[in-house]
Amino acid sequence: GFGDVIQGPWLMEQMKEQAVKVGTQFHHDIVNSVKFDDKPFLAETDSGITFNSKTIIIATGAQARWLNLESENKFKGFGISACATCDGFFFKEKIVAVVGGGDSAMEEALFLTKFASKVYVIHRRDQFRASQIMQDRVLNHEQIEVVWNKTVEKINGDGSVSSIELKDVENETTSELELDGVFVAIGHDPNVKFLDGLVELDEKGYIKTGFTTETSTSVPGVFAAGDVADSLYRQAITAAGTGCQAAMDVERWLDH
Ligand code: NAP
Repeated sequence: GFGDVIQGPWLMEQMKEQAVKVGTQFHHDIVNSVKFDDKPFLAETDSGITFNSKTIIIATGAQARWLNLESENKFKGFGISACATCDGFFFKEKIVAVVGGGDSAMEEALFLTKFASKVYVIHRRDQFRASQIMQDRVLNHEQIEVVWNKTVEKINGDGSVSSIELKDVENETTSELELDGVFVAIGHDPNVKFLDGLVELDEKGYIKTGFTTETSTSVPGVFAAGDVADSLYRQAITAAGTGCQAAMDVERWLDH
C-alpha cells in the first residue's frame, strides 16, 4: 500500500513504465476476434494487424454497467458519468448523486465529497450491499445524504443535467431532485464479447479459470487474469496478483 493517498491512473502509469523498462512492447488496439482452434492463436485487431502467439493472457477487465435510460445516454459526458476519479473534479461545489449500494457506490460517494458540496446516494433498497466499514463512512459523512428505496426514472436538463426523477419502490410515488451530476455505480460487466463463446464463462459471465493451473481457461494455452475472470474481489491488488500467476503459468506452458 501507500502511506499517502495516490490515484489509480498514476499507479497504472508506473506499472506500465516498469514493464517497458524490462522489455515489454505496448501496442494500443482493439481486439475484435480471436481464433483458438489452431496454433498459433490469432488475435485480429481494429487496425488490421493480426497477432500470432503460442499462448495468450486475457486481461480485458470489466466495464461499468449503466441504467439504460434514454436520458442517460443523452447526458453521458455532460453530467452523467461512471467514474468519479475521472470526472469528479468537474463538480466542484456542485450537487451530485451516486446510484448504487455496493462498495463502488460508497467509494465514489466518498471520493466525490472532495469536490461536491453535497452528495446523494440513491439506492433501490433499504440496505446497502457494501462492506460495513464503507457503509459506516458514508452514513457518517456530513456531506452525504442517503436516499433509500428509490430508482432513477429520468434525467432532466438543458445541455447539462439539472435534475432527476425518482420513483419510490414501495408506493410508486415520484419525486424530483435538483442536482448537477449523476455517477452510476451499479456494477460491472466483463469484457468478453470478442471471445465469441470460445472460452467457457461462469454463471455471471466472467471467464472460468482453474482448469489445470489457477489462471488456465477451458482452452489449453489461453489464460485469464484480473477482473475479466473475477466477479468477486475485483481489487487492483488481486488483479495484479492473478496477472503474476498468469505470467508464471504461461512461462511453464511454453517450457512444456
Ligand atoms: P455490486 O457489489 O454488485 O453492487 C452493485 C449495486 O448496484 C448493488 O447495490 C445493486 O443493488 C445496485 N444495482 C444494480 N443494478 C442496478 C440498477 N439497474 N438500478 C439501481 N441499482 C442497481 O458492484 P460494485 O459496487 O461495483 O462492487 C463489485 C465488487 O467489487 C464487490 O465485490 C465489491 O466489494 C468490490 N469493490 C470493493 C471496493 C473496496 O473494497 N474499496 C471498491 C469497489 C468495489 P442491490 O443491492 O439491490 O442488488
